[in-house]
Amino acid sequence: MKILDWTKQYFADKGIENPHFDAAILLCAVLKCDRITLYVDFARPLSDEELSAFRKLVVRRVQHEPVAYILGEKGFMKHSFKVTPDVLVPRPETELLAESIIKDAEGAVRILDIGTGSGAIIISLLAALPDASGVGTDISENALAVAEENAACIGVSERLKFLCSNIYTNLSADEKFDIIVSNPPYIPSGDMKNLASDVRMEPVQALDGGDDGLDFYCAIIKGAKNYLIKGGLLAFEIGVDQAGAVTAMCEEEGFKTVVRRDYAGLDRMVFAAEEGGRYGNMLPEIAK
Ligand code: SAM
Ligand code: GLN
Repeated sequence: MKILDWTKQYFADKGIENPHFDAAILLCAVLKCDRITLYVDFARPLSDEELSAFRKLVVRRVQHEPVAYILGEKGFMKHSFKVTPDVLVPRPETELLAESIIKDAEGAVRILDIGTGSGAIIISLLAALPDASGVGTDISENALAVAEENAACIGVSERLKFLCSNIYTNLSADEKFDIIVSNPPYIPSGDMKNLASDVRMEPVQALDGGDDGLDFYCAIIKGAKNYLIKGGLLAFEIGVDQAGAVTAMCEEEGFKTVVRRDYAGLDRMVFAAEEGGRYGNMLPEIAK
């Protein structure tokens, strides 16, 4: 298709990372078809309306607006999540974090997701674990509104509560969880200006982890024992080169730790639990 080739080239010239894929996805959105149909069946020229709608999306993309914001949705695990510029676009590496937990959790587990954003992690966990229930917290009311919508669409609202909270501040002191999971903001403040233009369109509040990027791990780990049952699990996504510092903080608080890599071979997750408890015994399995 000429329009596809033209757009691919235009995106490439403008420094868009996946020019062909993005051009195809945006064209599919306008034509309301899937990618196979686009390649196999789509021979007719675009109507004026379709062309004008497509042009608008192309203009947004060359301004480096993430495709997920343009489409208003992003696939994560088994579901499509609504996303807006108030939430981080859920990442494929975060799916690994959710998968690790699903693999080893069973029964009526209670899960706390700190910095829930679109709700991608906690909603996917509850969707996969039918007896689990949980709480998703975020400091952003706007993010929580998106997460609530996603929970309702995916059908887990009855087992999931959302709470606007600065880490633990608004959780009641007697709440206890089997698992605390978090993909907190972890980019060192000084690196924020070097982020790719697409990432810079995402909320600063979702990315900036303070001077060394470790502020949130420090606060979450220090308070974790107040909210975890004995033998409960702490599960984190981490940034590049943070495994050493995050495991050290966990060990200082009396947790055993394991690190799991992502598909690119980078240390990407830290799991921590007290020795001897259910998850303490399972740590080596979780990291596989
Ligand atoms: N969990 C989502 C995911 O993995 O796609 C979003 C993760 S995003 C990296 C971090 C989230 O933490 C953002 O939604 C941000 O609003 C939230 N956040 C930032 N500061 C916070 C705080 N002090 N307390 C709770 N959440 C916070
Ligand atoms: N993975 C995100 C990025 O580097 C950062 C997410 C976070 O701070 N938790 O684009």
